[in-house]
Amino acid sequence: TNKDDLFTVSSPNVVYTDAEILSKYTYRTTSVSKNADRKYVATPRETMYDFKVDRKVPKVGMMLVGWGGNNGTTVTAGIIANRRGLVWETREGPRGANYYGSVIMGSTMKLGTDPETMKEVSIPFHGVLPMVHPNDLVIGGWDISRMNLADAMDRAAVLEPTLKAQVKKEMAGMVPLPSIYYPDFIAANQEDRADNVVEGNKACVAHVEQIRKDISDFKSKNNLDKIIVQWTANTERYADIIPGVNDTADGLLKAIEEGHEEVSPSTIFAVACILDKVPFINGSPQNTFVPGAIELAERHGSFIGGDDFKSGQTKMKSALVDFLISAGIKLTSIASYNHLGNNDGKNLSSQKQFRSKEISKSNVVDDMVEANSVLYKPGEHPDHTVVIKYMPAVGDNKRALDEYYAEIFLGGHQTISIFNVCEDSLLASPLIIDLVLVAEMMTRIQWRVSSEEDKDYKGFHSVLSILSYMLKAPLTPPGTPVVNALAKQRGALTNIFRACVGLEPESDMTLEHKLF
Ligand code: NAD
Repeated sequence: TNKDDLFTVSSPNVVYTDAEILSKYTYRTTSVSKNADRKYVATPRETMYDFKVDRKVPKVGMMLVGWGGNNGTTVTAGIIANRRGLVWETREGPRGANYYGSVIMGSTMKLGTDPETMKEVSIPFHGVLPMVHPNDLVIGGWDISRMNLADAMDRAAVLEPTLKAQVKKEMAGMVPLPSIYYPDFIAANQEDRADNVVEGNKACVAHVEQIRKDISDFKSKNNLDKIIVQWTANTERYADIIPGVNDTADGLLKAIEEGHEEVSPSTIFAVACILDKVPFINGSPQNTFVPGAIELAERHGSFIGGDDFKSGQTKMKSALVDFLISAGIKLTSIASYNHLGNNDGKNLSSQKQFRSKEISKSNVVDDMVEANSVLYKPGEHPDHTVVIKYMPAVGDNKRALDEYYAEIFLGGHQTISIFNVCEDSLLASPLIIDLVLVAEMMTRIQWRVSSEEDKDYKGFHSVLSILSYMLKAPLTPPGTPVVNALAKQRGALTNIFRACVGLEPESDMTLEHKLF
């Protein structure tokens, strides 16, 4: 075993070599069909898979599009602060660097039970598989604003001055690479920021090639094994899906060659990454992954993930609605108001960009409603409204007000009102880290069906739906269902990681505490 391993699995199905962890894992599901009487028939099924985990933790670069924004500067300062173990004074006393809000760095997973004490044994999530530590990430990226990261951190107005003072020098030396800017895709009110742009204001092959070159230059300059790219730039408007233009991979490549106006900057970044098998994650709500981009990713076996960080209001929603509907309470309406005063809010004050956000915030309860045919008739749905207003005074301290209105026993009503206040970028930054760490881990996991031992191992599907926990509108492989319920999303992440070391999913049955 490696000195860093927190545990080893003792099982004939799990083998550790210097380079790999090899496991045999039996995946058990229930297949449901209808018989001649139109009654359901449930049949247990099982498939045995071989998983192979590459144990060598690589040196990884994280490149952010929109590096000079609130999220980009905050996550950069946060990683530097952690790397150096910084402590800074606040009016409430000294505060130290941490990774609170990151599932991978801040939460634990139950490994099992100690039969002697009957107690659960939990370990940090980061120790389940051999993962990259965020302190070791080399950070870079692009922004249409030329401001160095120290000044951009001041512009963001998120962090305490005493913390900023300690990271300022290092961040002053960080300057975003010029980016691609097609003004029509973001709000007109962003124009005065755009002083760091690559020539040309619509899609072209030169732009794709420039991004590919930027990534490979960054990789070689910093001696990196791997790069992960993430879009944390402004929310763009939706791109229209036009047959022949962006609905197929070949159409999209041709549209880029021909300079079609409906190809967005974020899609250009995605295409550049896909062509070089660099994982690309979209942290904003727009439809970066047009069908042609997804097809291109599948063709190249490149990883993509999205869309839109799930940080505050929607994270609460995907936990609370799951709870209410699973409790048998009939949720009948959700009214969600937000006001925020950062640059994201300014950009979202423009109708087309707001529309992207409205879409990604609106679909998050669909799966939970559809699953409950006791409470909801087919097609029936709770009312759901989302409002976002720009209120400069509150800065990054976003306010989210939610009213959940539900029908309870015998026609009664329950109203739950939530007032959620937090620095938006301090919630989003740990998600940016989790997305990078999990996406990177997925590049080192391979599988095959055990009975097909003659076949080569392969990677997971290009669309990394395992990232759903961190995302508002999770992208899933075409034709597969979207899961929004937060606990299920966490279950998928936990149990896939467990399977890779040959452990059963965490079932919470605890029969050992009930049958004796
Ligand atoms: P921000 O406006 O502070 O930062 C965005 C940055 O992107 C700016 O510096 C801008 O200059 C830059 N930019 C715009 N277009 C670009 C391009 N084509 N190439 C490179 N850079 C470009 O916003 P933020 O608060 O950091 O949020 C970033 C994104 O994350 C937004 O789309 C937001 O909706 C999304 N998001 C944020 C949160 C959160 O903060 N909690 C949650 C979910 C989604």
